[in-house]
Amino acid sequence: MPPEPFFSGPGLDRADLVRGDPAALQMLAGRDDALELVWADGLPAIADNGRLQWQAAERPELFLGLDGDSPRYSAHQPQLGDVRAAFATVGLLDPAEAPIYAAALSLAGWHSRHRFCANCGQASEAVRGGWSRRCPACSADHFPRVDPVVIMLAEYDGDLLLGRQPHYPPNRYSALAGFVEVGENLEAAVAREFYEEAGIRVADVRYVASQPWPFPSSLMIGCTARALGHDLTVDTTELDDARWFTRAEVAAALAGDPDAPFLPPPKTAIARTLLEHWPA
Ligand SMILES: [Zn+2]
Repeated sequence: MPPEPFFSGPGLDRADLVRGDPAALQMLAGRDDALELVWADGLPAIADNGRLQWQAAERPELFLGLDGDSPRYSAHQPQLGDVRAAFATVGLLDPAEAPIYAAALSLAGWHSRHRFCANCGQASEAVRGGWSRRCPACSADHFPRVDPVVIMLAEYDGDLLLGRQPHYPPNRYSALAGFVEVGENLEAAVAREFYEEAGIRVADVRYVASQPWPFPSSLMIGCTARALGHDLTVDTTELDDARWFTRAEVAAALAGDPDAPFLPPPKTAIARTLLEHWPA
């Protein structure tokens, strides 16, 4: 089975052909079965059964897609919720609903933060069911941004490199990560981040899986690599610590062993998926 990180999967039918057809969009918005996402405290509301909540569409502003034939919307959200509040509840979400949560949160957040044309500064307008914004002054089109992040494991002689960021809960270690920079491919970004954060050179960068991460709009690209050395020089401006763990230590942590030397990342994080699929 290929790895399936949380937030990954098909979600709704995004029905791209409809987005570009104003008459079709208007017809869909008038349907009796049109529903819009319920928000609570600036985040998609999660019911006790882990499902998203929907209500009759009063403000069909952002067209999330089709569930069968039935259109699904979100209203614009001027004020988004706190990320820490989202982290506290998102693990309760039914994994099948998680891609819809991710799309709705990233899309609403993009509109709330990108109300003005980046080219000329005029107020722009949502078009194509909310999947782009157009500037009425200079006609520039703007699209919801996706920020690629490499997140990666390095192995050396059976040991695995993990690090901890200052904001992690005590004793949690996870995969190293960093934004892909312009003019850089994934392999170069992985190699650069390992060298910057841990002082190691790597080879054999391999793609494993990816994950939309809607806080606010990242695409986490999970990779593995082979380290060319064991000595670490940890960048303490970015990390509290980075160290090698044995395969047995990683297995104990994933199994929830109270004697394990570290706490693994939560099941919502692709770092957890990478650890669980670390090839023997
Ligand atoms: Zn403009």
